[in-house]
This record gives sequence, C-alpha cells and structure tokens, in this order.
Amino acid sequence: MPEIKPPVSVAATERFVSVLLPLAVDGAYTYLAGPPGVDLKRGDLVQVPLGTRDYTGVVWETDSDAPQIARAKMRQIGERLDAPPLGGELLDFIGAVADYNMAQAGMVLRMVLPVEEAFRPAKPRKGVRLVDGSKNPPPEGFRITAARKRVLAVAEGGLLWGKADLAQTAGVGIGVVDGLLAGGLFELVDLPAETIAASPDPGHHKVQLLAAQEKAAAVLREKAGGGYSTTLIDGVTGSGKTEVYFEAIAAALEGNRQVLVLLPEIALTTQFLERFEDRFGARPAEWHSDLTPARRRDIWRSVFTGETRVIVGARSALFLAFSELGLIIVDEEHDSAFKQVDRVSYHARDMAILRGYLGKFPVILASATPSVETRVNVTRGKYGSVHLPARFGGQPFPDIRLIDLRENPPERGHWIAPPLVAAMTDVLAEGRQSLLFLNRRGYAPLTLCRKCGHRFVCPDCSSWLVAHRFRRQLQCHQCGLTIPEPRQCPECKTEDSLVACGPGVERIMEEVRARFPVARTVTLSSDLVRSPAEMREKFAGIAAGEFDIIVGTQLIAKGHHFPSLKLVGVIDADLGLGHGDLRASERTFQLLHQVVGRAGREQEPGVGFLQTHMSDHPVMQALAAGDAEGFYAREISGREIAKMPPFGRLASLLVTGRERHRVEDQAKRLAAAAPSQEGVRVLGPAEAPIAMVRGNHRFRLLVKADRAVDLQGYLRGWFDKSGSIRAGVRLSVDIDPQSFL
Ligand code: ADP
Ligand code: ZN
Repeated sequence: MPEIKPPVSVAATERFVSVLLPLAVDGAYTYLAGPPGVDLKRGDLVQVPLGTRDYTGVVWETDSDAPQIARAKMRQIGERLDAPPLGGELLDFIGAVADYNMAQAGMVLRMVLPVEEAFRPAKPRKGVRLVDGSKNPPPEGFRITAARKRVLAVAEGGLLWGKADLAQTAGVGIGVVDGLLAGGLFELVDLPAETIAASPDPGHHKVQLLAAQEKAAAVLREKAGGGYSTTLIDGVTGSGKTEVYFEAIAAALEGNRQVLVLLPEIALTTQFLERFEDRFGARPAEWHSDLTPARRRDIWRSVFTGETRVIVGARSALFLAFSELGLIIVDEEHDSAFKQVDRVSYHARDMAILRGYLGKFPVILASATPSVETRVNVTRGKYGSVHLPARFGGQPFPDIRLIDLRENPPERGHWIAPPLVAAMTDVLAEGRQSLLFLNRRGYAPLTLCRKCGHRFVCPDCSSWLVAHRFRRQLQCHQCGLTIPEPRQCPECKTEDSLVACGPGVERIMEEVRARFPVARTVTLSSDLVRSPAEMREKFAGIAAGEFDIIVGTQLIAKGHHFPSLKLVGVIDADLGLGHGDLRASERTFQLLHQVVGRAGREQEPGVGFLQTHMSDHPVMQALAAGDAEGFYAREISGREIAKMPPFGRLASLLVTGRERHRVEDQAKRLAAAAPSQEGVRVLGPAEAPIAMVRGNHRFRLLVKADRAVDLQGYLRGWFDKSGSIRAGVRLSVDIDPQSFL
C-alpha cells in the first residue's frame, strides 16, 4: 500500500499567534502556537526561533489569521518562559508609544525588556566561605602567596563573602579568590536573597504641612485614590512641592499601588533619595543608565514582580514592566532632558501621561516654571492644577538685577562685570556663598591662530573644538572627539600663536581664583567629575559650606538645596536666546529662574545678577520684574498667533547620510511626494543648522499642522506613497520636536 501523506494545507485546528520581538522590524511575527498543551495568552513571554537564533518576545495576538507563507516555513513557538505575562495595559502602552511617535513597536518593546534574562527566575547567588584548614589541607605544592594571605586574613572567622567583595576588601584581583577556591581553601555557599529596596512606610514621618500646602495635598491625595487624571503642582523652588506630592505617594502606597518618580537628571537623585528616606523610612530603588548589569536585572525583576514599590529614575524608567503601577510623578516637568531623540524619539512627560491614561491612574507634574504646553493644558481644563504661593520659610524669591554689558563691560580679557565683582566681594566678606553660572563646559568654545586665523573645527561635525584646559585637550561636543592641546598652528606652523576665544566654566574659574585668591572654590561641570560618587561629594561639600565660590554649568541649576548660598551670577544670560527656536525664550526663562532660585533659600534673602547684552528682551524684563505671569501670557499669545505648539502640531523629519548629494536628493524627493492636505504645511528641506554630525550630512523638513489634524496619519500616508528611502540614507521622525538643530 502506498503511504498516505497528510495534505500540506493548514489543519483547521491549528492556531497561530503573533509574537513581538525586541528588534527593529515592523510588526509582529506569526508562529504556530505550541508547544502542545501550552495555552498561550497575550502577554506571555516566549522563546522563538528567528533565522539561526532564538529570541525572547511577547505574545502579541493569540488568534492571528493564517499567514501568507507556506506551511512548511512556519515555525513553532519554542517555549513559554516561567514568568508572569506582561500586563495588557503595558502591551497597549507599547503599541500606543510606537503609534504616537511613529516608531517600531519592537524597538519600544526593547525599552521594556532591556535586560536579557531578567524575567527568568533568579539564580541563587554564590558566596565563599573559608574551609576549616585542619579538615581540608591544601593540596601539595599549593603556595600561599602574599595576596592569598591577605584574602585568608580578611575571611578569617568563617563569615560568608561575595567573591567580588572579598577580593575588593583584601585589595586583590578576583582571580586570587578563585585560586583559593580551586585549591579547596574556600567553599561555595548560596547567598541569601537580597531585598532590592525595603518597603516604604507611608506613615513613617509625616510632616506638618502649612495651610496652603495642606490644601494642595488634599487635592493630590484625592486624585491618587482615583482613576486617570493629570495635575500640575506649581510654586517657586522651595515652596514645598516635593513635600506635598509625597502625600500623594503616601496615598498611592496605602492603596497598594506602585509609584514611579521621574527626575530629569541622575545628579538630582541623591538629595531626593535622602528626603524620601526621611519621609518614608526606606530608600526607593533607582533606575538610570549608570547601574551595573546585575543591579539592572535585579531592579527590573523586582519592579516586575511588584516587590519594589517605588522607583526613582530617569526617563527610561517609564518603560519598566510595573505590575501594579498606580501613580507617576514627573518632577521638573518642563525639563528638556525628558525628551529622547533616538531610535525611538519620545517625550517622557507626555508618554507618562499616556501610560496613566491607559492604566487609569493619576499623573502629577511638578515645576516652578511649567512648560507652556502644560500651562495651556491647565487653561483648557485637560489638566487640574494646584498652586503653592510662597517659599516654605517665607523668604522672598531672590531679587534679580540686570547688568547691561554695554554699560558695564568687564575689563578686557575678563568676563565678570564690575558690579558683580563688587557684590561677590561683599558676600565673601559676610562668609556666605556665591555661585557663577555659565552653561558651557570647558575653557573656551573656540581656539584660533592669531597669525593666520585658522580655527580648530571637528573634521566630522560642523562644530568648533572646545578647549578643555584642565584635561589639556580640545574636544568636539557633538561627537566627543578629543585631540591633545596643540602647541602650534597646524596651518601656518607658528608656535604659541593660538588664542582661546570666549569663556567656558574653566576660564571663569581662572578669573575667580585670580580675583579672590583666598576664597575656597569648586567647579562643577559634568566632564570634571569622574563618578556619581564624586559628584555627590561635591554637592554635599557645597551644602555644608565648604566652598565660598562655586562655578558651574546647568548641572548646578537644578533641584539642589544649598542653605548658605546668597548670590547667583549668570555670566551670559543671552546664551540660550541665540538659536532663536520656538522655545528659546521659554527655556531661557526657565533656566535662569531656576538657577537664580538656588539662592537665599534659608537665612536672609538672596540676589541674582544677569549679565546681558539684551536688557530690553522680554525674558530679561520679566525676570527682573519678577513677572512670571506676564512672561507666560506673552509667550502663550505669541504661540497662539503663530499657531505653534500647543496651538498647532509639529513633526521634524531628519534625513542623514554620508554623501551630501544623496541626502539632499532624498530630502527633496520626500518633500515632492508630500500630499497636500488642508491645515498641513511642509517646510524645507533645508540643511540643518548643525549641518554635519559624525560625518553624516543632515537635512531637515518640518511639518506644521493645525491642532485638529491627525499628524501621524498624514505622515503614514505620505511615507507609504513616497516609496522607500534610498540606500545609505536614513530618515528619522521626531513628533513634537524640541530641537531644531
Ligand atoms: P520644592 O519642591 O517646591 O522646591 P521642597 O518640598 O523641596 O520645595 O521644600 C523646600 C524645603 O522646605 C525643604 O527643605 C523642605 O523639607 C522644607 N519644607 C517644605 N514644607 C515644609 C513643611 N511643611 N514642614 C517642614 N519643612 C518643609
Ligand atoms: Zn565631532
């Protein structure tokens, strides 16, 4: 009898599931459901084959249609991981982030599953312990070197040690411990599981709130117990916003929800962690790019299982797989550090609101200088708001004085104008602190040859090389390229002909030291601190009054509390106004307000000096008059007239590639293919203000649309029609762009 072969068609009972993989591909892949007997659900984490590799992905849809590919090519799900499924809200969030930002869902999943193996059960960690030598003598010929002796001395007493800890304490490499282990002098023992973060206690140390604070806290507490809402808490720095939103956190914890606090800078977290611990009796877990891989894995898992209740983190923490998330706080919500421009471009504040909306829980935005978008959303009634009228101790906001550099220029070759020098002299005599702010790292932004005019520029970017004297280097702030400080001009070969033009913080410090030789000084700039620990130390030193004069970049502008700081001087208040982009005024106002707000938070009132060439500019006038409301009103009506966000919508398209003509050509074709639609204008292409970065040429198109237009829908229709992007050229889409450079 001939053998009967089964038909090659798909059996009626066969099921297909689609699996989203953390890869840069469009959409999910379809697999045969299985293995037999396993009932797969949406959100299950599974191992699947793709090409020659296995990947971990997430079941996206369980009843996919039979795919259009041959049955023989269909592959089956490998295994389902022994882990809880990702929740439906999280999956919806992944899809919505991808849709809104026009990103690949797989790349968003990659932000959710950034740690390989995190969802597999934890392997017990092993420690080492000294074996009783009399029972187990070392093998013949085993040498007890000096290094080994140190390890044995440390481990004496039979304590259980982590290998790395033991090696570090004994001051030896880990190989020395391994050697002793191999020689049988140590044994391996399971280490007890560590808690990642102790549970915060909502009633640990309640603070007596002022009447206005209590009123605001009552509103937030009530919201924290309900469904979706977004609420702005605003009030000058030091008015107690943190103290007030702690009450909302307490309410969420009492309701058994997890809490996420987003901060714009890791540098801010230390003081925050300490305050949180004072209030709740335990430190929250931190999430940012500086964690060790092991720590990342532990935290990811503990958030996923719900063991960790509160996370404080940078924007990427928004993509953690919380199991019971019930409140997100976005502190300093106006800060542009919440915007990521990358494979997936997104604004963490806006995506936090999206996550709250999908998960039906409240979101709180805190700021002393809210973004125009948020202010307008409050006016429109989309967000609620609570307001704190004054600083906790009753100190007034520092008096702000303008120093018009046209009338009061610094002496030649100097940068601190006479009135500021005089004020600093007085503050120093009183034994109080001064802070000079300049948002520019390094010594000087440009080096040129006095003889031939040669300027040092980056070969790969349209950018000057910034002189860093402390490190004796020139550096490109676009791509990071560094070269040793040159001694002669590469063009005309003249020796000692190079001059530094303009100031950076290092140069301001040089002037400070020359003018105030007895003052104790410190420079704070991200490139001058080697580690977060060193940064913390410097901040603590300032808070403790160990320095008289501080010179810093924007690192110093945010969040820190320096009790004895009296004076803030801004070296170049006009710096941010130069680019003239949509938010130049807003950002300058926020930054200067924030940095001046560091002064006079305790004891007597503080004072701020702004050195400016544009003393008539509305931003300078509003700051000097303490008229924030006037500033916002003017800014908002300007945006409304120009139909700029939030009264219109923007998307930026950036076309990049190594060959300029190809890039330009692609950008032009793209523009030519733009469908015409009422309420949409496509501007450009134009060469980007920073025309080249890392050897890639850049052209920009800007899409401006009325608020009612479905901007993403328009872009999708356009890209479908315009055909594929040419080889060697890349198109990146940025919805709600913040940078136009
Ligand atoms: P903001 O977040 O608005 O800058 P903070 O919450 O940091 O303000 O408060 C500023 C300072 O005042 C902090 O040191 C804080 O502990 C203190 N503070 C604010 N409100 C109170 C209060 N009701 N009781 C005690 N200290 C308070
Ligand atoms: Zn460069």
